[in-house]
Amino acid sequence: MKLLFERSRPGRSSSLIPACDVPAVALPASALRAAAPRLPEISEIDLGRHYTELASQTHGVNKGFYPLGSCTMKYNPRVNEEMAALPGFTDIHPLQPAETAQGCLEVLYEAERLLCEITGMDGMTFQPAAGAHGEYTGLLLIRRYHQSRGDTARTKIIVPDSAHGTNPASATMAGFSVVSVPSNEKGGVDIEALKKAVGPDTAGLMLTNPNTVGLFDENILDITRIVHEAGGLCYYDGANLNAVMGQARPGDMGFDCVHLNLHKTFSTPHGGGGPGSGPAGCKAFLEPFLPAPRVRKTDEGFRFYDPAHTMGRVRSFYGNFLVVVRALTYILTLGREGIPEASAMAVLNANYLMKKLAGSYDMAYDTLCMHEFVMSLEKLKAETGVSAMDVAKSLLDYGIHPPTMYFPLIVHEALMVEPTETESPETLDSAADAFLAIFEKAKTDAAYLHGAPHRCPIGRPDEVKAARTPVLRYEFEGGRE
Ligand SMILES: *Cc1c(COP(=O)(O)O)cnc(C)c1O
Repeated sequence: MKLLFERSRPGRSSSLIPACDVPAVALPASALRAAAPRLPEISEIDLGRHYTELASQTHGVNKGFYPLGSCTMKYNPRVNEEMAALPGFTDIHPLQPAETAQGCLEVLYEAERLLCEITGMDGMTFQPAAGAHGEYTGLLLIRRYHQSRGDTARTKIIVPDSAHGTNPASATMAGFSVVSVPSNEKGGVDIEALKKAVGPDTAGLMLTNPNTVGLFDENILDITRIVHEAGGLCYYDGANLNAVMGQARPGDMGFDCVHLNLHKTFSTPHGGGGPGSGPAGCKAFLEPFLPAPRVRKTDEGFRFYDPAHTMGRVRSFYGNFLVVVRALTYILTLGREGIPEASAMAVLNANYLMKKLAGSYDMAYDTLCMHEFVMSLEKLKAETGVSAMDVAKSLLDYGIHPPTMYFPLIVHEALMVEPTETESPETLDSAADAFLAIFEKAKTDAAYLHGAPHRCPIGRPDEVKAARTPVLRYEFEGGRE
């Protein structure tokens, strides 16, 4: 398709910039550019068509099934957007005095209260801008706690080998060294290995439960007890709360701090890369270390305050506030009955689809799953040459976004499928048909699948090149301006 620069014709415009209504100011020559920028000149209708065409070539949850495991690409109800667009939330300034932004402070206060209820925590900060940032903040809480007790020997964070890649990265960023513990044959933490790993140098454990293979660790209470008895704290990676919200609480499993991904479980669109929100929550004994400022309710209304031993700020202002508005809207619309119903449906949908595929595809673990399941295509690849990548690419021809591929690393030729709660049985059935048709095709025409997708604008880009040397500027004929 043509780019905006190629559609541009001199003199056309959409008049989007209002007339200047303040006195013109003369800028010094050093602040002026020598030549006018070569911006595309384009009429409103052509502009609209350009973006509509782009959107039609992009997959999104509004276009089709999006079972991207671990990412929770759930449907985001429109009412969230309506609330987040209210002028009272959008026309405010972060430097406004608290007395003039009481509604916004109330949103932060209420969202904190409800998310603490859902996670079994006592306090929460909304500053972290995404999940990994929330992990970092939670780990700083652990660090501050040990330091406050003068215990400087605790320098290690234990992370299971099935962990999301951000876990060891965040632990390292927060100044810890990482100790990896292996998984057992059931996909959970190997208890004997954990017992050997803990000691006086253990600062804490980071765990996802259900973990990244979609399984709930049945030894969770033993795991948190073993870490606590060794003097460490337990950190819960709650990026994907979709299987457990309203069903089980990290706080009751023995965890001391958690982060959530509001942009996953609590319904903010995030396929394009943001904005996110990764609130970090903790039990009362860690609250004094939380980032400043926090919101509290006083007789005069909602006010900011700094916790006694605050770590300071981890981000400017109050985080991605409108993501919190969406999360609060989502929680209040679902309510006390709707939240557990959503997680139950997420688990039901994952098990339904897993069962439909299990006759053909090999499941990595032969057991009930939680909100997602992992298949291993190792055998299919050995027998037909068709890889997880080929299957993922073929799904695009059926209008299905590929599942997460080659993750978690402990499963070979992995495809990780997370249908989410809002998909109908009809959608799951047709997705199953697509998966099964591809499986049959692998036996008869592997070459066709190696060439997939056959119906997309772009098939198999060089992903490394696209990431390392992206072309982000339009090249005018005759070189750059
Ligand atoms: C997505 C995810 C993260 C990281 O969240 P970001 O917002 O991408 O930084 C961490 N842990 C788990 C289990 C996740 O699924």
